[in-house]
Formats: sequence, C-alpha cells, structure tokens
Amino acid sequence: MEKDYKNLPVVRRLSKEEETAWVNPEKVPFEERGLAIGMADIDDAEARLDRFAPFIMRCFPETKKDNGLIESALIPVPKMQKYLEENWKAAIPGRLMLKQDSHLAVAGSVKARGGIYEVLKHTEELALEAGLISTADDYAKLAEPECREFFSQYTIQVGSTGNLGLSIGIASAAVGYKVIVHMSADARQWKKNMLRSRGVTVVEYESDYSEAVKEGRKLSDKDPKSYFVDDENSVNLFMGYAVAAKRLKKQLEEQSIFVDSGHPLFVYIPCGVGGAPGGVTFGLKEIWGDNVHCFFIEPVQAPAMLLGMATGLHNEICVQDIGLTGQTHADGLAVGRPSGFVGKVMEPLLSGEFTLADKKLYDYMRALLDTEEIFIEPSACAAFEGPVKLMAYEETKEYIKKNGLEEVMGNAAHIAWATGGSLVPEEIREEYKNIYLD
Ligand SMILES: *Cc1c(COP(=O)(O)O)cnc(C)c1O
Repeated sequence: MEKDYKNLPVVRRLSKEEETAWVNPEKVPFEERGLAIGMADIDDAEARLDRFAPFIMRCFPETKKDNGLIESALIPVPKMQKYLEENWKAAIPGRLMLKQDSHLAVAGSVKARGGIYEVLKHTEELALEAGLISTADDYAKLAEPECREFFSQYTIQVGSTGNLGLSIGIASAAVGYKVIVHMSADARQWKKNMLRSRGVTVVEYESDYSEAVKEGRKLSDKDPKSYFVDDENSVNLFMGYAVAAKRLKKQLEEQSIFVDSGHPLFVYIPCGVGGAPGGVTFGLKEIWGDNVHCFFIEPVQAPAMLLGMATGLHNEICVQDIGLTGQTHADGLAVGRPSGFVGKVMEPLLSGEFTLADKKLYDYMRALLDTEEIFIEPSACAAFEGPVKLMAYEETKEYIKKNGLEEVMGNAAHIAWATGGSLVPEEIREEYKNIYLD
C-alpha cells in the first residue's frame, strides 16, 4: 500500500482539501476484533476513578453534587435537529442528542476524562510505593499537606494544543506537582494565560503539536522525577476516556433509550491525535458491539487519523506529506500526525470518518447557540458534520445499507460528542460568534 497511497481516491480528495466521508474497510464484526485490551481494562480504570472520588471532591468542590465523579449530561437537542433539517437540508432519521463533555467539571473538555485519569493513576502509583496510602484507604488523605509536600518533588510534563494542557495542568497543580505544559503554535492565548495563573509553567513552541510533544518528551526523560503524559501513545489516557462509555450506558438507560439491532446508536466525535475519540469508541464498542456505529470528524486541513487509517501507515504518515498545512481554526484538532497506537486499535472498530471545512465550525456553533442556547468551542462543533452528512454521502449511505440499517434508522439515536467549551472566556466567545470564513 505504501508506495501508491497517493493514488487512493480518498487520499486524493484529502489532498485537495475536499470535504469527504470515508468508510473503514478494515472494520470487522465485533466478535472478530482480536484486540489485546478489553472490558477488564476499562473496569480497572473505572474502579480507580471511584477510589479517587473522595480526593476529587476535596480538591474540586464543584464535583460534590456528583460525589466526586467528573461526568457530563446527555441531552436531546430537538431544536438543533430541526434547524439542521430545515436549513442545512440534513436528513437525520431518529433523534439527535448532545453529550456535553464541553461542560465537564475541572477542565471544561473531554480531556477531563483522560488527562485527569492519567494524573491520578500516576499519583496512586507514587503514593502506594511510598506507603502513603493503601488501596483500601480514603484517598481524600492525599490532599493533606504532608502528601502535597511529597508530590511537590515530582514534575508532570505534557505536550498539547491547549485542552490537554489545561486538564493535566489543573489536575497536577491540585495534587501538588510541578507542571510544565509544552504548547504548540496552535494553542489559544487564553488557555496559556489560564494555566500560568494557576502556577503552571507554559513553554511555547512555534512549531506544531508533534514537535511540542517531542521536545516535551525529551526534556522530561532527562529528569528522573519527571513523568511525561504521552498523548500519542498513552494507554492510560485512552482508558480514562473509555470509562465514558460505561457512564453513557447508565444515562441512556435512565432516559429509556435502548440500543440493540433494531435501535442503532450513532456517535460522532471530533478527532485530533485520536486518544479521546479512540478511547470513547473503544469503550462504546465493548458495551454495544455491532449496534454502535462510531465516526470521527476532522478538519479538511488536518485529517491525520483518516490519512493514517486509510493508508494503513498510521503514525508513519502526516498531513504535510500530502500537501496540507495542518493549520485549522479547530485548535483542538490541529494535529498533523495521528497516534499509531490508537489507529491500530481503531482498525477493526471504527465505522468511518467525515472531514469538514473550518467555516462550518462557526456556523454550527452559532446554530447551537441560537437554537438550544448552548455554547461549545469551534473544535467541538465538528461533531455536527456527522449527523448532517450521514445520509448525504454515497459512502455512508452504502454503509447503512450494507449493515442492514435502512429499515431501523427511524429508531436511531445520534450523539454529537461536544468535546469542549465551558472554560472559553466570554470575550473570546463574542469573538467566535463574529467569525465568518469564506
Ligand atoms: C483534544 C480535543 C479533541 C480530540 O482529542 P484527541 O485525543 O486529540 O483526538 C476534540 N475536541 C476538543 C475540544 C479537544 O480539545
């Protein structure tokens, strides 16, 4: 495949910055997925988050109402659905819902799942090793001054386009670590300011995300007391994201939404390096198998995961190799080279991908504000391209047919995964509202 990847029709469309849909030809029936990771790994992560709940409540009092769980609402968005159907000529059979990770406590984005989980997992390892706690203890103890003093000898470092830095930075500072966030050129200024105001060291790069990660990893590896959160390869981050699926199962049940072969679930998640959408998808597939259909959405200038999966080259190819800049208004998705680890796990699971032009991010953002009075950040708005275009592209229509779903689409639930937004300052929201691109 390697030598003639440039002739793949989808790669040609990507290189021309065309909006497109891609259906994953490597997807197999769930029973045949053949992965080395599974539900036991998600259960382990969920149990760890439960152990940390008293600590989370103590450090972040806003989580008290949810007993220390950092979780977001799942809500129907009928006015947005109607608007998209009437004004965007979208056919959305079934009902459209919004998963509001945009409003997750602490970090205001999906990164509150993976990022905080990884910091806590590392914290547990250090604390157990030092004999500060046993797994049967009340972890609220870890917020005591002597524990904070202990953690202050250690450093956490991470490379980020913004939101992962916010999540890791805020969580690490809460535990007591020194934190260094390596920010790519795409990171928005307000995110850097917010971190600095919390005592986090922010190192700025003029290069893209991959470079920021590389430099950060190198600097961290030099310091034996420094731990690097590796967004490109981390299984911990991935499992933190995957826990979302178990929580979603409860929410759907509470709302009497059943998922089975007669009631398919479609989930659309904006994708950057792949960890967040990959982890969530992995979890959803473990729960609903063939009855859940997961699609990623990427900007036309940064379709890193699509390119990696469609060529089979994963992290051995980047969007610059096909003449794209990787630059996009979707700062959270501004990634040129995908995670190889995630791409390989997604190979048997992912249904497909959509790409969208930057201008639509702002159009969807304004539509959601006007219809449902909900603000989510531009990157997160990419999710709406899925439900809007599922029944529009030949590729995805064929997918519906091949999977025998035509008859049951009226019973479908579509979840647009809103990946971030609640921390965006008011003046920046005003700025976004007035951006109209050609
Ligand atoms: C990080 C991020 C994503 C994508 O997550 P990846 O793990 O980079 O794929 C999507 N939306 C927002 C708002 C993000 O911050």
